[in-house]
Amino acid sequence: MALLDLATGELLSDPAEVATLLEPTADAAALNAAASGNAGPIAIRFPAFGDGRGISLAVLLRERHGFTGEIRAVGYLIPDLAQFLLRSGFDTAEVADPEQVATWQAALSRYSRNYQKGYRNLLPLRRDATRKEAGELDQRLARIKTLTDRIREARRRIEGRIAFSTSLGLEDQAILHAIAESGIKDIDIFTLDTGRLFPEVLETVELSELRYGLRIRLVAPDAGEVEQLVARDGVFGFRHAVENRKSCCEVRKVRPLNRELKGAQGWIAGIRREHSAARADVALAAWDEAHALIKVNPVADWTSQELTAYIAANNIPVNPLHARGFVSIGCAPCTRAVQPGEDPRAGRWWWEHEEKKECGIHLNPNRKGKAA
Ligand code: SF4
Repeated sequence: MALLDLATGELLSDPAEVATLLEPTADAAALNAAASGNAGPIAIRFPAFGDGRGISLAVLLRERHGFTGEIRAVGYLIPDLAQFLLRSGFDTAEVADPEQVATWQAALSRYSRNYQKGYRNLLPLRRDATRKEAGELDQRLARIKTLTDRIREARRRIEGRIAFSTSLGLEDQAILHAIAESGIKDIDIFTLDTGRLFPEVLETVELSELRYGLRIRLVAPDAGEVEQLVARDGVFGFRHAVENRKSCCEVRKVRPLNRELKGAQGWIAGIRREHSAARADVALAAWDEAHALIKVNPVADWTSQELTAYIAANNIPVNPLHARGFVSIGCAPCTRAVQPGEDPRAGRWWWEHEEKKECGIHLNPNRKGKAA
């Protein structure tokens, strides 16, 4: 007997013990008891070939009872069911014959997209995701309390590539910790290496990689575009005019980010409502028209106190610049420390007017030109 992770196709060597075993005849009361009684795996038994009632039970557990823990398929299962199980809300499946594992794994990658909307794919093939579907995810995330479960829910609900762009700031470090804790391996984690970063940012990259055993890709701007920019505006040209600064952010951040987000279905970012007035109504999940994907801000509703408490409780590595008064940390020439009580964003492009202080990578779809 082998236990297959349906999302990754990997075998699980140390599976959690099943907390509840549901038969296909389970009624609403049994589902409710299973969903609310524990966070441990719920196993659903398939007694015979052609008996699909277990599929419906998994959908009900997810859709109606809000269960976010592991759902495991056990019993009479064939490889052709693999993708269907995954889309219906199952996380794992017992493969009775270990010699069948390769067939199961092949079945999981047989189709890259699906025609019908399922529990795990908000983006069916027949059309792109919509604002409504992003709104549904937003409401789901609002009901989920832990950051790790919010990440899991986003991964479950968004089919295809999810990108996580980290600046190595406090919010992003909290999210990185939750991704590592979730056990999800296929979130694409990267940072924009603008060429003007503080060395402490790169040190934080290494510290985090060592702590979590993962890789944070460094994404560089196009070398030719940087050369042209510097030839035109000078090496510190961004200090002399807002337009120059926006050009610099465009070349070093916006375009590289857009390249990385191309083809992604989801984008995780560390925006919080407390950051600024422009971010006050940012959603936990929202349709991002510019990038044609669902943008997830899983700590949007966190306060600074909640964030620092989470970081302390989990001993999460942070950029040492925070201890020297730097709050929101961007490129070295454009970031300074702030005084206690000062607006956290006051240390970014401090020579500009407040309403112009966005680099253009987080725009709020509800408020044209404002941040999200
Ligand atoms: S933050 Fe400053 S150095 Fe960095 S890309 Fe923007 S203008 Fe250029």
